[in-house]
Amino acid sequence: MRMTQTFVPVLKESPADAEIISHKLALRAGLIRQTAAGIYAWLPLGFRVLKKIEAIVRREQDRAGGAELLMPTVQSADLWQRSGRYDAYGPEMLRFEDRHGRNMLYGPTNEEMLTELFMSAAASYRDLPKMFYHIQWKFRDERRPRFGVMRGREFLMKDAYSFDVDEEGLRRSYDSQFEAYLRTFAALGLKAVPVRAPTGPIGGDLSHEFHVLADTGESAIYYDAALEDISIDDPEAVAKLSATYAMEEEEHEKVADCPVPADRLLKRRGIEVGHIFAFGSKYTNGMGYSVQGRDGEQVHPLMGSYGIGVSRLFGAIIEACHDEAGIVWPRQVAPYQVGIINLRQGDEACDAACEQLYGQLTDAGVEALYDDRNDRGGAKFATMDLIGLPWQLIVGPKGVSAGTIEVKNRATGERADLSPEDALARVA
Ligand code: ATP
Ligand code: MG
Ligand code: MG
Ligand code: MG
Repeated sequence: MRMTQTFVPVLKESPADAEIISHKLALRAGLIRQTAAGIYAWLPLGFRVLKKIEAIVRREQDRAGGAELLMPTVQSADLWQRSGRYDAYGPEMLRFEDRHGRNMLYGPTNEEMLTELFMSAAASYRDLPKMFYHIQWKFRDERRPRFGVMRGREFLMKDAYSFDVDEEGLRRSYDSQFEAYLRTFAALGLKAVPVRAPTGPIGGDLSHEFHVLADTGESAIYYDAALEDISIDDPEAVAKLSATYAMEEEEHEKVADCPVPADRLLKRRGIEVGHIFAFGSKYTNGMGYSVQGRDGEQVHPLMGSYGIGVSRLFGAIIEACHDEAGIVWPRQVAPYQVGIINLRQGDEACDAACEQLYGQLTDAGVEALYDDRNDRGGAKFATMDLIGLPWQLIVGPKGVSAGTIEVKNRATGERADLSPEDALARVA
């Protein structure tokens, strides 16, 4: 992609309403723009990152045996009346009427819809177990949307739903999502702490939230320092992590005697990036669905639901990966791998060298962004650092006549003057 063809409206100053660094940088780097309170447009660079995060989430959901489908954003109120949640959900639900006066809503989540879609076709225990997921926009009319896409009103969520005939199966589904979450956050370069979450009114349920540690996180969490020694590559990681103490502040304060010695108890701030929940027959029972069990009796399948804030992860990654100059994207989610800076646009030799590099990178399948604008070198350097592509190839008249290109690693700041061949090999 050429800078002159895309749209990267960088800002010199952070807008006054941006409180935290990820929000400031996302605006300054021209990744997103707010179009109404808590509602964002994803500009070309930001959208590429969002799609890459989504692809990693999808890969791990597929690996966990999830079948992807896509449910609509707009739902009918009838469905929610049947589960009893239409009245219970409160003002976070955006409700409206269609032209025929039917009550509609913009989905904040999809338990009811998926339960109806699948259970109306499932007749027997042989149709189970099943795991479905979709990645779709949600709307929650948050009282206080803030921190950019971290707490938006419209946001992208991966939500998965499992159906099992018995507790053992439900536990297997739950653990497979738990593991998928560990893999997903690690693949994104994030360290996420699984925290035991309150289970609500139905006893015996199981729930964990996954928090990325960050000083700007909205939650305070307490956990056993031993948790940090558990590797996600350990085949027992899920069992070990679930057995290790980790709670949100509010829950921790209810614990009469905390089993963790004071010198091992860590308090940190976290961003909730995922939440998994085994709630059993709440919806299948509530909406009147059953299947024939192994012994011929009718049973209400047991369900779990599993959410990841895909657009919130976008903010969490920036929060974790930046320096004074701007964003430092991890390679796997960077909008482009390489930025080409032409220091003398219009100079025949510089233009030709840049065009050649750009063509070779493109042919090699390396995503490159060529800053071909007629702009000062200083402004191009600042923009390239701000948008945080992993590699920069800097082409100027001196290098071109010496037959070299300057290669800069955005994360380490290391620079080297290399021949075009070596420069390409370095960044590919
Ligand atoms: P929070 O406590 O931050 O309000 P939640 O507990 O209401 O989140 P869940 O219902 O558990 O959210 O939804 C699953 C995931 O969706 C969350 O873990 C979070 O990553 C993401 N999410 C929830 N609300 C928002 C939002 N307003 N903006 C962006 N992501 C969100
Ligand atoms: Mg919420
Ligand atoms: Mg929460
Ligand atoms: Mg939650």
